[in-house]
Amino acid sequence: MEYILALDQGTTSSRAILFDRSGRVAGLAQKEFPQHFPQPGWVEHDAGDIWRSQLDVARQVLRSTGVPARAVAAVGITNQRETTLLWDRRTGEPVARAIVWQDRRTAARCDELVAAGHSDRVQRATGLVIDAYFSGTKLAWLLDHVPGARSRAEKGELAFGTVDAWLIWNLTGGPDGGVHAMDASNASRTLLFNIHRMAWDDDMLALLDIPRAVLPKVVPSCGELGRTRASLLGAALPITGVAGDQQAATFGQACFAPGMAKNTYGTGCFMLMNTGTSAVASRNRLLTTVAWAGPRGTAPCYALEGGVFMAGATVQWLRDGLQIIRSAPEVEQLAASVPDSGDVYLVPAFTGLGAPDWDGHARGTLVGLTRGTTRAHVARAALEAIALQVADVFGAMARDASLPLAELRVDGGASANDLLMQMQADVLGVPVVRPEVTETTALGAACLAGLGAGFWQGADELSARWALDRRFEPLIGADERRARLARWREAVERSRGWARD
Ligand code: ADP
Repeated sequence: MEYILALDQGTTSSRAILFDRSGRVAGLAQKEFPQHFPQPGWVEHDAGDIWRSQLDVARQVLRSTGVPARAVAAVGITNQRETTLLWDRRTGEPVARAIVWQDRRTAARCDELVAAGHSDRVQRATGLVIDAYFSGTKLAWLLDHVPGARSRAEKGELAFGTVDAWLIWNLTGGPDGGVHAMDASNASRTLLFNIHRMAWDDDMLALLDIPRAVLPKVVPSCGELGRTRASLLGAALPITGVAGDQQAATFGQACFAPGMAKNTYGTGCFMLMNTGTSAVASRNRLLTTVAWAGPRGTAPCYALEGGVFMAGATVQWLRDGLQIIRSAPEVEQLAASVPDSGDVYLVPAFTGLGAPDWDGHARGTLVGLTRGTTRAHVARAALEAIALQVADVFGAMARDASLPLAELRVDGGASANDLLMQMQADVLGVPVVRPEVTETTALGAACLAGLGAGFWQGADELSARWALDRRFEPLIGADERRARLARWREAVERSRGWARD
């Protein structure tokens, strides 16, 4: 037993990664699958594509590395969160395509719930804000719009799940004895789960009109919940770790103590801070979420979470929209060709502003242009905008948690950009640290599975293995930091309330 197999089911691709006992990547397979956009604002995945691509890459990584299934100690699962599936328990057939987290079709329903004054009650029970992003209103939409779905659901014929539950069910046998289970970190993104009582919440089920009969059982993020069908991978492998992608990345970054935080720089940014066994209610419109949960009887670990919509996507816009760079990494050299942005600020509110401003009417704004402004200043302003948005979330988190944040652990595609990481340390005023292994999401799932299977002994062993690639120390003083953040806030104010729709 020398390996852990991590299944990382993402929004655009499914990946399978084998980790060896030292936590190193021993093999990786990846496969993209189709995205469906049937109407503006709608995003769907074929549930069959999700399952087949995930199974394919799992088989592929075993084949390409020559590792026999019997050498795999356990399987861990991490997944795109909130994406909503509903299937027939008897046939295993989905009743419709999966509604992806990005899908906005239930935005009007969410506006109604907010207008009716339900926000406080929802935040108290679930830790979330009412938004189309989460699974609850997506599931209600399926029950209301797929012919016959509601009555079949009430009779217990249909099963609801996020992607983790769909994979677990299929891996453990599907209609033939499959386990219908969701891990607590994923459950905490549904709007249906009470994060204090760690159980489905009757009040939320009534509010969103969801029959209990569709719900999976909620299981710990760590510990055996079932075994894969032997015919699928060549042996019946225990599934012993499951967490949503951002929570898994937090685990993979070994943020085990309260006050430890990580930020992932992908298309958007996701920052999570461990708040230990207390579920801290945000006063700054951050989310409170289950980070991971151990066996029944042990207290779960909670996190505060804040997201930035446009991070790496701002760089994509420089490449594809403005066409001032040919590839994303080129932005670093271009931005470094000028000493500063010349007081130019880019507020990338292309789709509105997320935490902590939450302004759906804000739009992208470029201010401070002069005759001397060049594409290099714009590129530099774009990188600064990523760092400054993250600083806003970081500030809100520190205020909410009343915990000192000693450093920020980073990962994701854009964390490879040294200039951006230096800017980040400067505007945060704390060191930014980048690990050697930036496959933190899959590593986190592997770590949960490895602990759950007794393959690794404890969090200390995992913390000790977290290895530094590079540490970025703040190079500017407190006065300059305050001045930059204040100037940025002026630019943000100018972006607000622009869209009239
Ligand atoms: P996702 O998982 O959201 O697809 P990734 O973690 O793969 O994201 O990161 C890709 C994102 O990072 C893209 O938006 C890309 O523009 C950005 N990116 C990649 N390399 C760099 C770089 N060197 N500097 C800045 N941004 C980068």
